[in-house]
Amino acid sequence: MSKPNPFEVAQQQLESCAKILNLEPGVHDFLRHPMREFHVSIPVHMDDGSIRIFQGYRVQYNDALGPCKGGIRFHPEETIDTIRALAAWMTWKTSLLGLPLGGGKGGVICNPKELSGGELERLSRGYMSQIWQWVGPGKDVPAPDVYTTPQIMAWMMDEYSKLSGENAFGCITGKPICVGGSCGRDDATARGGMYTLREASKVLGMNLKNATVAIQGFGNAGSHAARLGRDLFACKIVAVSDSQGGIYSDQGLDVNSLFSVKAKTGTVINYPNGRKISNEELLELNVDILIVSALENVITEENADRIKAKIILELANGPTTPKADEILFKNGVHVIPDFLCNAGGVTVSYFEMVQNITRFCWSIEEVYQRLDERMTQAYRSVLEASKNYGIDMRQAAYTVAVARVVEAMKLRGWV
Ligand code: GLU
Repeated sequence: MSKPNPFEVAQQQLESCAKILNLEPGVHDFLRHPMREFHVSIPVHMDDGSIRIFQGYRVQYNDALGPCKGGIRFHPEETIDTIRALAAWMTWKTSLLGLPLGGGKGGVICNPKELSGGELERLSRGYMSQIWQWVGPGKDVPAPDVYTTPQIMAWMMDEYSKLSGENAFGCITGKPICVGGSCGRDDATARGGMYTLREASKVLGMNLKNATVAIQGFGNAGSHAARLGRDLFACKIVAVSDSQGGIYSDQGLDVNSLFSVKAKTGTVINYPNGRKISNEELLELNVDILIVSALENVITEENADRIKAKIILELANGPTTPKADEILFKNGVHVIPDFLCNAGGVTVSYFEMVQNITRFCWSIEEVYQRLDERMTQAYRSVLEASKNYGIDMRQAAYTVAVARVVEAMKLRGWV
């Protein structure tokens, strides 16, 4: 079965919300498409002396609430529609968290695993030099996402600074700490998700100690989720996977060993004391908590009925299709939807922006405390909307987020 187009998924989700909020057709229509997008060709000198042209995008979905905000992905299967969907979800994410920011997203079609360090640097600088006039602290502030790192953010910040003639730390977030990054940004996405998990466990009466957890994806979000699930709540991590496959043990996996196996061999499947499983099997394991932290469209109408977890944490963007959502809701699975669950990343990015503007660095404790407050508040507002309207958590998150964006557009006189 072919995978759904993520932008069509985002538009379908918005449509359900438009009905619940009774949005005027013109307002709904405006929100169905990005306000602006940039398509750029980036020539890069390769190490072998050839010149290769990479295709890049930046989509500014909506900036009614403030400058656009959202990551940049470097991925071989990137498409403009994926970026559009992700930019829409960023708009709802920043709004839901009450941040004074809009939503955007960028991407470059490339496989960073096949590029040398020098090629990656030239590509990163080349991308920024193509879009720099349209981004920046008051317009649109990029950040890391799939396969982009703090080092890449540092190169892009440096390129922007050279072009604009000033030290522009605030033009991008997710930077290394010594060039304007924030404490706590590295594990912020996973940590924010953990705070929502804690709230959900209270609602469901689930004891997190020894609760079993399966994690699909062992990148930035998934690997920190494994560590934090163990450290904050003493959860038992029984399965993890990456793009090469998964590993399972009902005795629990040793998280430190997972990190070293991944660092040494490039994949978690070489973890010695476990049974190899596929990514598909991992999703259907009999666990208390399923964390999806890889890519889009992994929970579909095909497998939704076989999911046994009581709570799903969507640390990835767009992992569940609308049809799957209906099945999960019917089956009583508590889904913490992506733009709530993974909002910790952009929330600490916002803290980074504030620290860059004020030139004052916060302590790690302050970052954690403020992140916890925002995530807890957002979770509660979504839960309340879900109860009030009798709708699932994703639709509830949409009603809160879209209503704020619409209010801002009306106050600004756009609609
Ligand atoms: N890429 C992350 C996301 O999807 C973070 C965005 C940001 O920090 O601006 O939320």
